[in-house]
Amino acid sequence: MKYDVIIIGSGPGGIFSAYELTKKCPKLKIAVFEAGAELEKRKCPIDGVKVKHCINCKTCAIMSGFGGAGAFSDGKYNITNDFGGSLYEHIGKKEALDLMWYVDEINMSHGASDVKMYSTAGTKFKKICMQNRLNLLDASVRHLGTDINYIVLKNIYDELKDKVEFRFHYEVENVEKLENGYKVCGKDQEDTCTRCIISAGRSGSKWMEHVCSQLQIPTSSNRVDLGVRVELPAEIFSHLTDELYESKIVYRTQKFEDNVRTFCMNPHGFVVTENTKGIVTVNGHSYEGADKQTENTNFALLVSKHFSEPFKDSNGYGESIARLSNMLGGGVMIQKFGDLIRGRRSTIKRIEEGYVRPTLEATPGDLSLVLPKRILDGIIEMIYALDKIAPGTANDDTLLYGVEVKFYNMEVQVDDNLETIHKGLYVIGDGSGVTHSLSHASASGVYVARKIAESIES
Ligand SMILES: Cc1cc2nc3c(=O)[nH]c(=O)nc-3n(C[C@H](O)[C@H](O)[C@H](O)COP(=O)(O)OP(=O)(O)OC[C@H]3O[C@@H](n4cnc5c(N)ncnc54)[C@H](O)[C@@H]3O)c2cc1C
Repeated sequence: MKYDVIIIGSGPGGIFSAYELTKKCPKLKIAVFEAGAELEKRKCPIDGVKVKHCINCKTCAIMSGFGGAGAFSDGKYNITNDFGGSLYEHIGKKEALDLMWYVDEINMSHGASDVKMYSTAGTKFKKICMQNRLNLLDASVRHLGTDINYIVLKNIYDELKDKVEFRFHYEVENVEKLENGYKVCGKDQEDTCTRCIISAGRSGSKWMEHVCSQLQIPTSSNRVDLGVRVELPAEIFSHLTDELYESKIVYRTQKFEDNVRTFCMNPHGFVVTENTKGIVTVNGHSYEGADKQTENTNFALLVSKHFSEPFKDSNGYGESIARLSNMLGGGVMIQKFGDLIRGRRSTIKRIEEGYVRPTLEATPGDLSLVLPKRILDGIIEMIYALDKIAPGTANDDTLLYGVEVKFYNMEVQVDDNLETIHKGLYVIGDGSGVTHSLSHASASGVYVARKIAESIES
């Protein structure tokens, strides 16, 4: 075999697998194949002047390249089993948490030592939330910010680059099973390895489906999260964000008893677009440095939709809704909360008249033409519930961007070693459907590396 281990994808899952393998088994021959670019060459062409909207690059610089979808993310490492994935179901709650703390240590030692750790446990906000039918989830969070996150990634890359062979701009097409390992093939490259770790993330979800179908690895898929990104003046949430940075709050709607939750809160942040294979959705991030901060805070409000038999294509459902919004808005759509409540579309004039300056240029429209009633009703109910703990949330000028979709990769059947039915083939990170976050994806990478190290030693 040419390599001992080939890692496909250099997002947090792939990076932390490579990192831990070099620590535990320095003699192994390891290669990392990545469809996107090196860290410093990753650049989204949207500059707000010449290029204002997503132009569908062959590989999206936001989603692909060294650092994966995490590179320009907000860099919020939430250390919790309450959200961010179900890694604990495979490896146990204690080990999952221990690994997340270990990842935190590595981040700290690679440039994040000055970044504060926030915690929601035991704060006064839990009680205030409960009194208003809201549930504040427990988590410790270290917010690296897009800027420190970049430095950490660069430092990790510098440490790895002489120990691991990185190949960028290399999209793997097939993984074939051999008698004693795997053949990993691209358009005009072919390599063999004893063990293969696939960490293809969300951008690789379609490709992951192809791999699973070729290798007959069982999968399941039944969940998609749909909603909007809310943007409002940072002062409205400052009492929460100053103390907790991010608050994960869940609300159970009175009408349908659905759970609506806040997701990815970005104090003084930016709303951004995200392109997954031509489907434009909305997301958000923020910088740690005060000079790069805005006057607004943004966060998503999401409703999880679980489907039952016979429907299996939950991502297809989410994609159709995102496509509808792209069709009407030419990309991301924006609406003032007041306009939504009054049943009218927003216009450029009405947005300009408002007090909240949008941080993303989006097409004014009517989200009620895009989101299913049940989901929209849940979001409106939650905005009024949040207004009780953060008065001003339900102001007319609050901006809603749509749609935000969290596509969950189908869940790949893996055992407690995160190994598929094929010995030596591991699937980790968001591409496995087991994780949906930086901490969990990174922890899954460390875990698999340790399992490989153990199997080599024994
Ligand atoms: C804008 C944004 C903000 C976010 N903010 C946060 C946050 O603050 N906190 C948080 O916890 N999470 C956040 N996330 C989610 C987080 O980034 C992901 O959960 C995490 O990156 C998953 O890591 P991963 O390694 O599993 O996959 P990814 O990071 O998606 O990496 C997968 C890599 O595999 C490569 N790849 C895919 N297919 C192939 C192939 N066939 N051949 C070669 N390479 C391939 C891709 O190019 C990509 O680089 C955010 C995501 C986005 C987009």
